[in-house]
Amino acid sequence: MSISAHRDSSPMTAINAKAKADADVIVIGAGIVGAACADALSARGLRVTIIEAQEIGGGATAAGMGHLVVMDDNPAELALTAWSLQLWKAFVAEQPDRHEYSNCGTLWIAADEEELAAARGKAHTLSTYGVACTLLDPAALYAREPQLRPGLAGGLLVGGDTLVYPPKSTRILLERALHQGATLLRTSASQIEDHGVLLADGSRLRATHIVLAAGSHSSELLPDLPLQAKKGHLLITDRYPGFIQHQLVELGYIKSAHAASGDSVAFNLQPRPTGQILIGSSRQFDTVDPAVEPAMMARMLRHAASFTPGLRELNILRCWTGLRAATPDGLPLIGPSHLRRGLWLATGHEGLGITTSLATARLLAAQMLNESAAISATPYLPSRFEGAGQHA
Ligand SMILES: Cc1cc2nc3c(=O)[nH]c(=O)nc-3n(C[C@H](O)[C@H](O)[C@H](O)COP(=O)(O)OP(=O)(O)OC[C@H]3O[C@@H](n4cnc5c(N)ncnc54)[C@H](O)[C@@H]3O)c2cc1C
Repeated sequence: MSISAHRDSSPMTAINAKAKADADVIVIGAGIVGAACADALSARGLRVTIIEAQEIGGGATAAGMGHLVVMDDNPAELALTAWSLQLWKAFVAEQPDRHEYSNCGTLWIAADEEELAAARGKAHTLSTYGVACTLLDPAALYAREPQLRPGLAGGLLVGGDTLVYPPKSTRILLERALHQGATLLRTSASQIEDHGVLLADGSRLRATHIVLAAGSHSSELLPDLPLQAKKGHLLITDRYPGFIQHQLVELGYIKSAHAASGDSVAFNLQPRPTGQILIGSSRQFDTVDPAVEPAMMARMLRHAASFTPGLRELNILRCWTGLRAATPDGLPLIGPSHLRRGLWLATGHEGLGITTSLATARLLAAQMLNESAAISATPYLPSRFEGAGQHA
């Protein structure tokens, strides 16, 4: 799981002199979203230059759990996540091991009758949309996950949810983009201009389209964007194969994910293909300090152990943090922006950017090339925040 295990090697480290020539598209940021955009756009024959200041996939992408999950808090979120899951299945099928792919599914845990009612509502929404899921009574729940504490009300199994190792998937997307003719430039964008980018060394790159995919750093380049950082902690254990079988998430997670202020933790446990257990998750506002906070770590562990008491016996190896870029309505910004001529946004993916990266890239490419896509782009357009002072 160590990020440093995926440090750059050629050809991705090479600064190609040709990159400074005009491109059709400049993508700022080689996280999972930027890499997916570079892949989708270069696949359509556009000349793409991708700019990355740090590690490939080393931002929020490396901090994420890699849970590819259908979420249904609103119709737009359901449409984007469900479509993206389909795209992921086709993508990982080419080489599942390289993605560290697992089709473990998600088991949503209902602690009490109220949450069981929420599980039933979720089951109805998902199955109406064509997403297969199964309600579990307590006996079926414990048969699948004996580590869960006694007394839970039941669960909802969404068998089509999967997981990947996000930094690797990012590199696979980027490699494919490079094979399709894209160019990688290892530098920092210091300013976005009309149809151009000012680089850290003072030189300028010109292109018809500029795609901002800089995750939580996007507002450093465009301070008026409606983005707020949400810090998250994750922990990982030593290897305990078979401890759990599914990604386990409490239904109360949804409340935590939607909170607009304050600190919150939610039970979110993932069985990595290595046998390690990834323990999430937390959400904090008003801080961009990447430091691990022992108090938050302890709170997450206590909460997780209240669902799976056996966790107390496991060795924790490491803890880290990441920043999610959150918009006011929880949906990403995908589409043209009035802030600069030729500017497009692919940012604001909060806690779902690994899941929604592939659909984001397809939606963006369809808009740029004036084509139709599998779902409507309207709910994700940056223009929905115009008039609130965010856009010039
Ligand atoms: C704790 C945690 C758990 C998560 N779990 C999941 C999960 O299970 N499933 C899921 O779907 N999502 C999850 N997420 C959310 C997901 O990780 C993010 O939504 C996603 O990684 C965002 O990708 P990105 O490419 O937009 O941003 P990033 O990965 O942050 O990439 C942005 C890139 O832009 C580069 N950059 C920034 N500024 C510049 C500049 N000026 N010039 C050049 N380059 C620049 C950065 O170096 C970085 O590499 C989680 C997030 C966190 C924090």
